[in-house]
Amino acid sequence: MNQLITKSSQWRVNTAISARHYSVYIAVCLTTAFALTAPLISFAYGADNRAAYTTPYMPYKAFDKLKQKTEINIEGAELTIGYAPGQLTLPRQTIHNWLKNAAAIVSKYYGRYPVKNARILIVPAEGRGIKGGQAFGYKGAAIRLYIGQHTTIADLNRDWVAIHEMIHLALPSVATRHYWLSEGLAVYIESIARVQADDLKQETIWADFMRDMPKGLPRANDKGLDHTPSWGRRYWGGAMFCLLLDISIRQNTKNKMGLQTAMRGVLEAGGSMETQWSMSRIIAAADTATGTNSFRTLYQKMSAAPVSPDLKDLWQKLGISKGARGKAGIALNEQAPLAAIRRAILQPPG
Ligand SMILES: [Zn+2]
Repeated sequence: MNQLITKSSQWRVNTAISARHYSVYIAVCLTTAFALTAPLISFAYGADNRAAYTTPYMPYKAFDKLKQKTEINIEGAELTIGYAPGQLTLPRQTIHNWLKNAAAIVSKYYGRYPVKNARILIVPAEGRGIKGGQAFGYKGAAIRLYIGQHTTIADLNRDWVAIHEMIHLALPSVATRHYWLSEGLAVYIESIARVQADDLKQETIWADFMRDMPKGLPRANDKGLDHTPSWGRRYWGGAMFCLLLDISIRQNTKNKMGLQTAMRGVLEAGGSMETQWSMSRIIAAADTATGTNSFRTLYQKMSAAPVSPDLKDLWQKLGISKGARGKAGIALNEQAPLAAIRRAILQPPG
């Protein structure tokens, strides 16, 4: 779930964001930009009632009225795909294959697709590439994706937004102060799930984490994850929490379980974006699944205080270092104290 968390004048400030995750930021803002400029875009495209599909919230009624919709069955779930008015160069079959691939990656991580049915609204946009996405659950699981008119197959193959939004469907809707958990899980799990599905190399995600996770560290006046709704804390602070939680669960279970088991447990307990849960209910379901107190303990530590883990020390213990040729510039040390945990994070539960 995305929402506007900075003023438009601040969009350009954060130029240090990595290439692969840069669009998260843009996605959040563009969606709102679309909503604000919907009448103009609609005029530019000459499309009838396009504005109906770019409202801040999912236009369930307008979606349901769309005449041509495609149903895709995958992993026991049904995705209903509809298109808002507008032009797209890519054939719809190509877009459907891209969505199927994203659904397969997410299903592999969770053991199944997070919901039985999901509406997927494709909104053609200007330019090229995936321009943003949002996930909704209050009237049934739904995802809206903005796709640039001139998007190519290569753009789709590089994309992570569809996977990110599908991961959102697996967590119950939470209060705004906990959005760092939903965004953190989406950022972290997107990386892990894609490695597990052979969609990314492990060195790539460790390089990304090394480069980007420091953006999730607290700055001056930070009051902990629940009380500091900055972009960095929400996306990368949340992802850092997920990595620390994954490691903690593994340390408490002799490396037999991790975050993946915990989040499958939340899903199996009936949690999905179609439900609204308190944080304590999510924590209880996750900790029950792993038989640990890892989630509760880490949440108590990081939710209301500015905790700054020593990330450099963490990478060293995990056996990840910069400077190697090729392989995303990352060398992996299999003798490092937490190397077995690092390897296990990328192995789906047996
Ligand atoms: Zn998100």
